[in-house]
Amino acid sequence: MKVKVDAAKCQGNARCWTWAPNLFELNDEGYLDPGDVNVPEGEEENARRAVKSCPERALTLEE
Ligand code: SF4
Repeated sequence: MKVKVDAAKCQGNARCWTWAPNLFELNDEGYLDPGDVNVPEGEEENARRAVKSCPERALTLEE
């Protein structure tokens, strides 16, 4: 499972990070860097919640 980050849509409100601090790292300005985030075993549910929580729809799940 992967989470794709569309950094152009990210508004930096950190909801994703609240659900999955082990998966996402915010940069110094509070935004996610672009690219894919690999989801390790055991973090799948947190990843789903994080994707759903993003009000900007900047995150997409790839099963
Ligand atoms: S919840 Fe969405 S808008 Fe907020 S930091 Fe995460 S990816 Fe960016």
